Amino acid sequence: MKFIIATNNKKKLVEMERILKPLGIEAVSAKDAGVVLDEVDETGTTFGENAFLKANAAYVKTGMPAVADDSGICVDALGGRPGIFSARYSPEDCVTDEDRTAKILEELQGVPDEKRGAHYTCAICCILPDGSKIEIEETCEGKIGYEFIGDGGFGYDPIFYFGDKTFAQISGEDKDKVSHRGKALRKLQTALREHFG
Ligand code: IMP
Repeated sequence: MKFIIATNNKKKLVEMERILKPLGIEAVSAKDAGVVLDEVDETGTTFGENAFLKANAAYVKTGMPAVADDSGICVDALGGRPGIFSARYSPEDCVTDEDRTAKILEELQGVPDEKRGAHYTCAICCILPDGSKIEIEETCEGKIGYEFIGDGGFGYDPIFYFGDKTFAQISGEDKDKVSHRGKALRKLQTALREHFG
């Protein structure tokens, strides 16, 4: 079965392909499906609402079952920021993921080790062929470091410590085992197995 993955983020697509493949689900990008998905206005106030907006837009446009995730990083010392605004954090002075990551380090200057807690959240919305939906949310707890370390992963991974390594220092497979998205997609696997019997 083919599912359209409603993301323009290639790294997210790769993570989703890796996790859905064992279920016999082919993760297809909009490009592979030959459609152009309009940018969805992320007007929701939660990760879950935004995941639904993205999945539903892809489902309505293509008629294919659709999966979307909305994710982000919540930093304790910043009152949970950037949260749902992770991809659009501080637009007045940040253009790239690297700028946004550097911005967090700058904002945490002087914050001691024990107050550098953070978590990633991933909400997934899957709209099935019959229009019913599966919604899942998972988190991954970690800490923010003091500099960029590692060149794997994407986004905020070079400053996000899980144990003694950043997510940018470990393999994709090791990240999947513990990450917000890995956990959420495994729950989706279970829910899909139940749904399709
Ligand atoms: P979205 O595509 O609107 O869901 O935005 C997700 C934002 O959160 C992007 O800016 C990513 O950089 C960040 N993000 C989400 N998941 C991860 C992750 O696993 N690693 C690093 N950054 C992430």
